[in-house]
Amino acid sequence: MKAIDRFIKYVKINTKSDDKSEAIPSTAIQLDLMKVLLEELKELGIDNAFIDEYGNLYAHIDGEGETIGLNAHVDTATNISGENVKPQIILSYNGQDIKLNDEYTLSSKQFPTLLKHIGKDLVTTSGDTLLGADDKAGIAIIMGAVDYLISHPEIKHHPIAISFTCDEEIGRGARYFSLEKMNASYAYTIDGGDISYINYENFNAKGVKLTFEGIAIHPGSGKDKLINAVLLLNEFLNELPKNDNPYHSEGYEGFWHIDDVNGNSQYLEAEMILRDFDIDRLNKRVEIINLSIEKLNSKYPGSKSKAIIYDSYSNMKEYVDKKPIVIEKAKEAMIKNGLEPKSAPIRGGTDGATFSKMGLVTPNLGTGGYNCHGRYEYLVIQDFEKMIDVVIDILKI
Ligand SMILES: [Zn+2]
Repeated sequence: MKAIDRFIKYVKINTKSDDKSEAIPSTAIQLDLMKVLLEELKELGIDNAFIDEYGNLYAHIDGEGETIGLNAHVDTATNISGENVKPQIILSYNGQDIKLNDEYTLSSKQFPTLLKHIGKDLVTTSGDTLLGADDKAGIAIIMGAVDYLISHPEIKHHPIAISFTCDEEIGRGARYFSLEKMNASYAYTIDGGDISYINYENFNAKGVKLTFEGIAIHPGSGKDKLINAVLLLNEFLNELPKNDNPYHSEGYEGFWHIDDVNGNSQYLEAEMILRDFDIDRLNKRVEIINLSIEKLNSKYPGSKSKAIIYDSYSNMKEYVDKKPIVIEKAKEAMIKNGLEPKSAPIRGGTDGATFSKMGLVTPNLGTGGYNCHGRYEYLVIQDFEKMIDVVIDILKI
């Protein structure tokens, strides 16, 4: 089966996850694709493949040397439908607007990156769903590379460990991931965009649960007595560095970001996230928060301000630096296929960051998919196919 046909087959299977669901996996429809993948792996002659009790699929293929892992996720983003996806193929893109349907047009004025793909073939949506290249392109790349190596037994390659995971889009992709079942020396997530990029730096992330308890009393007789929780939050926010928020930051700059706020003048809860590539800078933010809370508590006796700080994920760079072969191998394979390897900091987290922290160093590679999580998502077919060759070269000895 041609890799692009595989991709088209996968995107037609709805696998949207659901952050409101506590089921494992969050939606049973993700297993529909898992079963198809298991079937395909068996047809390729890979008997050592199974879906575990959490819905994750693992497969192993013998080879020589260190075991290299490959990971992609089956689910698609929750913010737009993934049902009844009708992919459209645009042959030899000419730079003009692409009409997705009567209402929506994919235009290079809005998405100038499109102009980099003139002359190449694209797969787009039909305007009313996402495409699901994130991350079904990653799955099809892994399947394509494995298919090629199995049908060319004369090519010597590393032992291969595959994992396809559920619920990445709702932040649970690594929750039920098993290092033992994966059993690899290092791995790659194939879950990025531009195929010239290998990403191995991401934010260190912490979350903060804030609570402010004021003192309620009739406002008319509130003099020196009424303490308003909303004003406590306001005063707290004023203590934080003004420009360190998402509106003002990019590249390697970190931020604090106030998110969910719930409550009233008597009691208020708020969620905050803290992000920094540099761990010392992140810890500095924690210090500022703790100091501001202390200040409020001593300034307003009787009120209670509290900040509970917890770890979310960490920068994989420190783990990657200890195993340089992982990046070297990928860069070599990219250069061999005519790419000029680049890297950029990921201003978020990846499942690979969590795998790395667990002990399996896992940088991220591209798929040739762009504009993920929306109706303007598209895949560049030639880049997608080239990525199969890159993965094959990573696996080769
Ligand atoms: Zn993804």
